[in-house]
Amino acid sequence: MTKHKYRKLTVEGEIATRWICGCFETADGFFKFCKSHSEPMKKTIEAQIDELDMTLVVDEKG
Ligand SMILES: [Zn+2]
Repeated sequence: MTKHKYRKLTVEGEIATRWICGCFETADGFFKFCKSHSEPMKKTIEAQIDELDMTLVVDEKG
């Protein structure tokens, strides 16, 4: 077992991958982007969602 300096119950969860800029991915598969990447990544993800036509799922909660 490797010791992590992050505990599981922190907001970020357990960090699995961390990039030098500050972006990281948690063990749960959650991505958190640093200031300089959050905007471009958001746009990239939105563009990919458009490409995948995932907007069709919008009325799921109705
Ligand atoms: Zn970054």
